[in-house]
Amino acid sequence: MILPQTNLFNQSDLLIAFGTKQDGLFGRRSSAIDKAEKNNRLDFYQQLGIDSARVIEMMPNHFSRVKIISGMDDSIGNFDALATDIENLYFSLATADCVPLVLYESTKRIVVLAHIGWRGVVFGLPQKIVKKIIKEFILDPKSIRVYLGPSVEMACYRQKGFKGIIKALLFFLSGNRLAFNYYRSAFRFDLNAGIINQLTIRGLKIENMEINGGCTVCQTTIFPSNFREKKTRKTSLITVVGLKNKSFL
Ligand SMILES: [Zn+2]
Repeated sequence: MILPQTNLFNQSDLLIAFGTKQDGLFGRRSSAIDKAEKNNRLDFYQQLGIDSARVIEMMPNHFSRVKIISGMDDSIGNFDALATDIENLYFSLATADCVPLVLYESTKRIVVLAHIGWRGVVFGLPQKIVKKIIKEFILDPKSIRVYLGPSVEMACYRQKGFKGIIKALLFFLSGNRLAFNYYRSAFRFDLNAGIINQLTIRGLKIENMEINGGCTVCQTTIFPSNFREKKTRKTSLITVVGLKNKSFL
């Protein structure tokens, strides 16, 4: 299990935790897990001290949609980002290489969990999220904190040939020219840089952002990775985020 250990995110009323390979097998995707994987997830939630009946397992689909959740009975469709101001409600997200992105605002107590892969960067999902929560909850972007969880780092996100060219073109055309480069006959993509750049454009402060720095591709004993394992991948990195019940603190 990985927990952010800094002043920025070591908040008593906020839970952020990452379940890794060392916490058992969690399945490839939340919409299709077997009984053992389900039990491992339940064990993990229990270890975090949260009630699994208060956990919403996200089903992202790369279409970059954002939803505000106002209670457990909200119907959950395919969204890449969920936001809430409800306490004792937790989002759980399964990833392998994509960025689990957390946004947190402490005065109005808002939390967001998002799944951002290359499509999310190209579709401007980080900007969409900020736009939506600022409007919905009337937030000052300067007070929003950001945590970028483990994902594929730039050095490991290399693509050659047609695939690399098309992706680089899409990054370029969508205003994400700072998030890729060409190095030793391959394009390299930096999801974190793309996300941070978009958040900065929307008024968020760089000093309020923190990168976990773990790489899903080369830290093989800790993280699952689609790039590395392809069809043999059996588990996911599980990110759990939520506002703890303040009355119990
Ligand atoms: Zn790496």
